[in-house]
Amino acid sequence: MAELRNCPLCERVFAFAGGRNLCPACIEAEEAEFAVVRAYVRAHPGATIIEVASATGVEEERILEFLKDGRLISKGLASVVLHRCERCGQPIPAGRYCGECTNLLASSLRQAADTLRAQAGGAGALGRGMHIRESQPGARK
Ligand SMILES: [Zn+2]
Ligand SMILES: [Zn+2]
Repeated sequence: MAELRNCPLCERVFAFAGGRNLCPACIEAEEAEFAVVRAYVRAHPGATIIEVASATGVEEERILEFLKDGRLISKGLASVVLHRCERCGQPIPAGRYCGECTNLLASSLRQAADTLRAQAGGAGALGRGMHIRESQPGARK
């Protein structure tokens, strides 16, 4: 009673028979990656996800998936997964925000600082000049 599906990884049509939503070829490739990662993590229990990724050649994202699935258990790696971006919830290797959110927050902080500076500058010619140059031409407020 297999159902035909498109593999989300390689887009090949395959007969889905329950379990992983992947074609047999991708499952096999994933199993091979998993075996390599698991062997490495067993030999190096304290390895970080970055070390495992660079040593095994398996993408960090894939290793995170193994961890999230609960298939890969490692003390060192589990603590890594406990780090999640406080903004979008994405697992991250360290810190509080993922790279994307760090950039977003940094630019919004910069904007807020610019606004504050412009406000604080008040009649300051330099602050006003900079502010006007940054806003859209013709859009007066
Ligand atoms: Zn596939
Ligand atoms: Zn994020």
